[in-house]
Amino acid sequence: MRSVAHPAAFPFIIVSVQHLDCMCKARYFPMNHDELSRPAVPEGGARQPDLSSIQIIRSSRRTLSLQVKNDGRVLVRAPYRASLRDITAFVQKNRAWLEKHLQKVREEQASNALAADPPLTMEEIRDLADRALRVIPARAAHFAPLVGVTYGRITIRNQKTRWGSCSGKGNLNFNCLLMLAPPEVLDYVVVHELCHRKQMNHSAAFWAEVARVIPDYKEHVQWLKTEGSRLMRRMTG
Ligand SMILES: [Zn+2]
Repeated sequence: MRSVAHPAAFPFIIVSVQHLDCMCKARYFPMNHDELSRPAVPEGGARQPDLSSIQIIRSSRRTLSLQVKNDGRVLVRAPYRASLRDITAFVQKNRAWLEKHLQKVREEQASNALAADPPLTMEEIRDLADRALRVIPARAAHFAPLVGVTYGRITIRNQKTRWGSCSGKGNLNFNCLLMLAPPEVLDYVVVHELCHRKQMNHSAAFWAEVARVIPDYKEHVQWLKTEGSRLMRRMTG
């Protein structure tokens, strides 16, 4: 993979980037002055390529090149003298090639995503729940006096949207997927729910309670947002 300069230096910036390694294809085309003077959109009413999602890298090179990166970005390398019309025409001319390789990247990304995050089987979920039943009540018992609260029943669930909850009666629910999270993240979720015994909201006072027991809780919130979301996608049923 070639490195490129900061996107701010280019007239166009990539809108979305997915990080998956799979393939990298490039195609190079000679460009002459005839091509430069050709109209931007060829006759025949063909759809104009969307340049807003294509990164254009200008240099002192003499040819145009089109490249599909393994993360799905499309790069056009162009001489300084090439106009946007030239580049549009060039992309349009090679549209079939571009579509073919973008499709390959999409397929590759889809299969990589599936391999990295395979859905959990029912057996795996049961195993996680068994482990959670052994671990989480012990963590709640450990943290409750530190938070300064009591609680009722603890239930382990397999949920797709929540890590934990606390009922008005003080019963606590926890997601068995927490067993796949780092132990400090699990502890944070336990403390979070215990703190709801003091504050049934997410007010500043609530977060102050959390911070008193887990000072670096924001890191764990962040982990749940990013890695945790991936974990949640593995939940089936
Ligand atoms: Zn909460």
